[in-house]
Formats: sequence, C-alpha cells, structure tokens
Amino acid sequence: MALVKCNECGNEISSTASRCPKCGTRTLNSKRKRKRFTIIVVAILLFGIMGYAVYSYYDWQVRQKEVEKFIDDFTREHPIY
Ligand SMILES: [Zn+2]
Repeated sequence: MALVKCNECGNEISSTASRCPKCGTRTLNSKRKRKRFTIIVVAILLFGIMGYAVYSYYDWQVRQKEVEKFIDDFTREHPIY
C-alpha cells in the first residue's frame, strides 16, 4: 500500500482508496476501476446481443424448415395437378 498525492488538494492518500478523504475527489485508481467495470459491462452486453442474434437466427432457420415441411406436406396431400 503506497501513498499518492491527490490531484485536487495535494493531500496524501492511500493508493487503494477510491476517493480523497479530504476533498472527496475520485482517485486515478477508482477511475481505472470504473473503466474496467465499463469494459466488462460492454463486453457482457455485446455477448448478450451476439447470443440473441445467434439464437434468433437459429430460431428463424428452424421456423423456415417447419414452413418448408408444411408446404411439402400440403402439396403432397393436395396435388395441384
Ligand atoms: Zn483531495
């Protein structure tokens, strides 16, 4: 645990602290943590969207096959000519 100077008031604070106890300014450490958190959230969202896209594509394919099967059965049962 090291001491770093606050960017705002120059007060010495712990490098693991997320805020300066004197002026309440967020430290670089907390900004980095926030950035990492944002990246994780974005990554999860992207995975979610990708997962949904893959799922809906798969679902569409399955439905498409069902429709084709239905048309096949229908034309077999009701021949036009
Ligand atoms: Zn400060």
